[in-house]
Amino acid sequence: MPKEVVVGSGAGIILFMLFLGINVLPLILFGLLAVALFIMFEGQLRDGIKGIGTKTKTINHVTFDDVGGQDTAINEFKEALEFLLKPVEIVEMGIRPLKGILLVGPPGTGKTLLAKAAASYTKSAFVAASGSEFIEMYAGVGAKRVRQLFSEARKKAKREGKNGAIVFIDELEILGAKRGSHQSHMEYDQTLNQLLVEMDGISNDEETRLLVVGATNRADMLDPAILRPGRLDRQVAVNLPDKKGRVKILMIHTQNKPLADDVCLEDIAKATFGFSGAQIESLANEAAILALRDGERKIAHRYFVEAIDKVILGEKLDRRPSDEEIKRVGIHEAGHAVVSELVRPGSVSSLTIVPRGQALGFMRKNTPEHDQYLYTLQELEGQIMVALGGAIAEDIYYGARSTGARNDFEQAWNLAKEIIKSGMSSLGVIAVSEVPNDLAFKECTEILKNVEENASALLNDNRDLLDAVSSRLLEEETLDRQRFLETLQSA
Ligand code: ATP
Repeated sequence: MPKEVVVGSGAGIILFMLFLGINVLPLILFGLLAVALFIMFEGQLRDGIKGIGTKTKTINHVTFDDVGGQDTAINEFKEALEFLLKPVEIVEMGIRPLKGILLVGPPGTGKTLLAKAAASYTKSAFVAASGSEFIEMYAGVGAKRVRQLFSEARKKAKREGKNGAIVFIDELEILGAKRGSHQSHMEYDQTLNQLLVEMDGISNDEETRLLVVGATNRADMLDPAILRPGRLDRQVAVNLPDKKGRVKILMIHTQNKPLADDVCLEDIAKATFGFSGAQIESLANEAAILALRDGERKIAHRYFVEAIDKVILGEKLDRRPSDEEIKRVGIHEAGHAVVSELVRPGSVSSLTIVPRGQALGFMRKNTPEHDQYLYTLQELEGQIMVALGGAIAEDIYYGARSTGARNDFEQAWNLAKEIIKSGMSSLGVIAVSEVPNDLAFKECTEILKNVEENASALLNDNRDLLDAVSSRLLEEETLDRQRFLETLQSA
């Protein structure tokens, strides 16, 4: 009911009672008391339920168990959160406080969820805002909002009787983009400067320990000042989940739903390659809606299958490769990994065919025990073999390559140039600037041709390893070192 109607009718009733000669003083006092109580409670309610914004948000006790498929991110995150959990030890050891953590990953992978879980884990208050909310046409507004956000975090922690608060800023790239890169850059720059000032103000002595958690899927756009030591200097990658992760997320989002006996979460996970956590949540929800529409009391497997299409078509999954492409990526990555392990045993850390950033697949190398600054000819040639391993594996299976090896070739070409520059090619000792371009080009192609022949022979001789690794990778989507070794041994 509109306020005006209530006030108008109230005044009308009082006038009518006065007209009848009734004493209205107690009624007026009672009314005033009721209004005061209403204002107090409405304020608290609004604080409690308003969503993301410079207003605060209740977090319904999300824990790390509610986040699926992000085990590595959770472990790295927890490690960083120890700083909030051990304030006394930190001061005793003279460690400067950890002020910020940056979560980097595609949309819908659970960054907000992780930040909320971090607040529960560290028993901190939680306030959240999105980068776009700080940006206004008017100078100074953004900076003021940043100040308000930090002050609200401190107040909220006090109100809830907590020692710490987590300030979560989503879409950080909008607020924290490189200075001078926006058209109306004065306002953007002031806002970012204010954030840096607030972060610099966080100290060990404060009553409320603050931690800023930023989230972005474009870490490359951020101003270097924000990533400097003492600011958001810890980065945690939050990637798309692999099959095992998707099963876990499906379990989380179906636990409150009545599933029919024929539902196989493994199969659903298999069919949802490239889905983010948010898309899996939406899938589970859609399946339930479809079942309800058919008047069913339980959700059968076919509803999940139908919902997959709905999510794919409805949301237009960007960059979802076809099954054939996924297979090619698996073979390509297996090629890199097998060559790498044969050329330098112990060099493969993990491999995956789950898209990450711009890459459709990825092989992560083990960091060598010691930093290496000098390379021998054999080592450089080994690195070229690894770079070419992906394309060669594609050749072996399909008799043709794809555009997926473009970056590998560039890397191989640069390594070949390094061989020439270091006087290790057939040109002997040379000064690069004096070598005619066509001669350097010819030498590069010659080096690459020879190394390619060696890599091809190596992979063909170890075809059993390539078969085993590629099929296990396609089956499981991600292989850590342990699983990769088991696969090699079983081949
Ligand atoms: P954005 O970058 O778009 O802000 P985000 O990475 O912060 O996205 P969330 O907001 O955390 O993603 O996820 C949205 C919803 O999707 C969550 O509330 C949850 O229901 C579901 N979800 C996303 N990721 C996961 C996950 N890893 N485990 C379980 N649920 C998830």
